[in-house]
Amino acid sequence: MPTILELITLTTEYFEKKEIDSPRINAELLLADILKCKRLDLYLSFDKPLEEKEINLYREYVRRRAKYEPLQYIVGKVEFYGFEFVVNPNVLIPRQETEILVESVIELLKVANISSGLDIGTGSGIIPISVCRCYDNIYFDALDISSEALEVAKKNSIYNGTQQRINFELNDILQKDIRFHKKYDLVVSNPPYVAQSEYASLQKEITDYEPKIAVTDFSDGYSFYKKISEIAIQILNEKGFLIFEVGKGQSEFVSEIMRGVGFSSIKIVKDYSNIERVIQGQKI
Ligand code: GLN
Repeated sequence: MPTILELITLTTEYFEKKEIDSPRINAELLLADILKCKRLDLYLSFDKPLEEKEINLYREYVRRRAKYEPLQYIVGKVEFYGFEFVVNPNVLIPRQETEILVESVIELLKVANISSGLDIGTGSGIIPISVCRCYDNIYFDALDISSEALEVAKKNSIYNGTQQRINFELNDILQKDIRFHKKYDLVVSNPPYVAQSEYASLQKEITDYEPKIAVTDFSDGYSFYKKISEIAIQILNEKGFLIFEVGKGQSEFVSEIMRGVGFSSIKIVKDYSNIERVIQGQKI
């Protein structure tokens, strides 16, 4: 039977040929998942031989990854903002950039008087769940158009112990006569922002596996920013905040959209790659 080191070396070479990003880390993370250990713990038992059923499962995982299935869907979970979430192909895989959005919300909660939030397009539920885990005095309504995504979000909320403070609802925000019966102190969203014209140039991991409705608006990339800004200015309480994540190069136009419907004190936050990633505005 091959050892851990032999398996990792072989798989890394195979992933390299397939042009998978970070081939060695992928090889290690898949194996760590099967052995139920941390990736770095593999280094403590490099010469340990594996059992046959572990190797068979590893082969299957490697085959799937080589077809560009995202690692997170194979192992079924992901860490975000230090918390664990389950994921499946019905939800967008949480992105590191979105941690900037969550951080911005948490910073705001420290200084502003906010006790109710609305998350639009909640997907796996990472935004309200992470916020609720960091901050006690807020409750959220969280909307999504996909009932399958909401199932994942509800599971994550229970798993993270936030189910008393987040109410998940099936809702299509783009429908014409959408009505809200409540007001909120905060509206947050990381909407599908890739333009239809750019969709085909994305990585295979995204186009072949992630839900298309979570990635693109099938238009110019701005449909959700326009609609959500219009709704938010109506359903926010006085002094309430709207916070968006935006794609690369979208910050200027999204600020304009927000200003256009009446938001002021626009603030932009950059991500780790120096890209303007989060936009916040206030209803004064
Ligand atoms: N809010 C979820 C996230 O940020 C889902 C976003 C989406 O599906 N566009 O990951």
